[in-house]
Amino acid sequence: MPQEHLGLFDTPPTRRQVQFSLVIVGLLFAALLVILPVRDVPLRPIHAFIPMANAIMFLGELITATLLYAQTAVFRSRALAVVGTVYVFTALLLIPHALTFPGAFAPDGLLSAGINTTAWIAWCRRVSFPIAIFFYVQLRRAESTAPREAERPAAGIVIGVIAAIALAAGVTALTTIGQALLPPFFVTHSRVAYANSLQYESVVFVLSIIATILLFRTRRSVLDLWLLVVFAGWLTQSLLILSLHGRFTVGWYWLFLVSVFSHLVVMLALLAESHRLYLRLALSTSARNRERESRLMSIDAVAAAISHEIGQPLAAARAYATAGVSWLDRPQPDPERAVKSMRAAIDAAQRTADVIKSIRAMFAQQPGMASEVDLNDLARATASALGRELAGEKVSLQLTLDEALPPILADRVQIEQVLVNLITNAIESLGATRGRARRIAIRSAALNGHDVLLQVSDNGIGITDEAMSRIFEAFFTTKKTGMGMGLSLCRTIVEAHGGRLWAAPGEQHGVTFYLQLPRSDLHAA
Ligand code: ADP
Repeated sequence: MPQEHLGLFDTPPTRRQVQFSLVIVGLLFAALLVILPVRDVPLRPIHAFIPMANAIMFLGELITATLLYAQTAVFRSRALAVVGTVYVFTALLLIPHALTFPGAFAPDGLLSAGINTTAWIAWCRRVSFPIAIFFYVQLRRAESTAPREAERPAAGIVIGVIAAIALAAGVTALTTIGQALLPPFFVTHSRVAYANSLQYESVVFVLSIIATILLFRTRRSVLDLWLLVVFAGWLTQSLLILSLHGRFTVGWYWLFLVSVFSHLVVMLALLAESHRLYLRLALSTSARNRERESRLMSIDAVAAAISHEIGQPLAAARAYATAGVSWLDRPQPDPERAVKSMRAAIDAAQRTADVIKSIRAMFAQQPGMASEVDLNDLARATASALGRELAGEKVSLQLTLDEALPPILADRVQIEQVLVNLITNAIESLGATRGRARRIAIRSAALNGHDVLLQVSDNGIGITDEAMSRIFEAFFTTKKTGMGMGLSLCRTIVEAHGGRLWAAPGEQHGVTFYLQLPRSDLHAA
């Protein structure tokens, strides 16, 4: 059985996804090239910019973390828990970042922020990602050799969230209350201490490069692909920061716009992926249910077919055997008639056995026992086998057979079953008919050189238009004790022989069934 992928973590990316992600990465780097020459052009400070950008990123990162944690719960993977946790951590840092940003909520920022506070918070955000990816790759490697997901302990999402909150609180405290402990990033609120910034950002850049290489070399899932896109975003940002000298410049605004853009793209891609996987799972589950139902249905159908088809020969066997006994069990026994009845009972019992065998072959979709069959002979034999039933309902049977009818290549027992069904249905319909002589007519004819046609007509109660469209469906019946299996079985048999079976209203009363089968020389060709 092909393995079923459960999520972003174990589904390999499609070629389309790889192409799409390459386009995004290409766009990110192309945009960087465009921006680099004008990066230091100053722009008007927009103080609402950071809170807005941070709010968007905050939502994006929290949604991404939720998606990742949901996958963590499915796969019981610590590797995934680490990535989910880093997203919670970076999302949380966006709050103090916005609060402490000079000019956003207060001229010097809230939380007694210093000039370096936001820069260090942003640096922690950037550096945490490659570190988390390093753990992710290691843990995933360990998990790929560990027991299957279902047997692993839960991956501790709550611990991850608590750790993310604690770390974010720690970073906030260090960059605000403990800011004196940190080396400077900025000379003034808008001018960077370039030499220092270059050093710190180089650390992020190198770590990001290492993490990208690690991830690229071990990539295997859709998630890895999108993480690589995130890294491409981080790398372009790092490169830009390495060359930035101040805030509120073209390059600085660009930095946040790229960040928002890559976050949104990744979040939307992950959402779309989750949805697609969910749909695929839902579809495959419903396909599996349908398959199960149809298997149950076919078991039902086999059971119903067997009991439907052997009803008539079994009843005949019983009637002949009872008659045989009564010929013997009388003051002057008549052994000759008794023997005749017993022989008929044996024939009927044999027919029962043949029917069971042919139904089994039909449902197992094995080819039947094909031989050359003269449809006229078969019609005569079937009519005589049903003599008792015809007499019981006072039905007269008229055979108009084309003596030049070519033979067909068929499973004799199966085609006999078709005829038994058609004639029995006609007798039952006539049983409910009053006020006219009850008649069944069987006609045979050669058709256009390729096929033979057999018609079974009755002048019984007929079929309503509504029922006519459904009579060949399995389990459709209008009779109190009917099973609705006969005609559906007949059609299956006829179609398996390369023929057609259909019905039309009779000329005045009743119905005519048409059985068209290919003649044998065509089979042989
Ligand atoms: P069943 O005989 O168990 O109902 P069938 O599949 O043989 O199942 O027939 C389905 C339905 O087709 C019958 O219930 C009946 O309504 C209709 N039907 C079939 N043959 C005739 C006929 N000769 N005359 C009238 N109705 C018929």
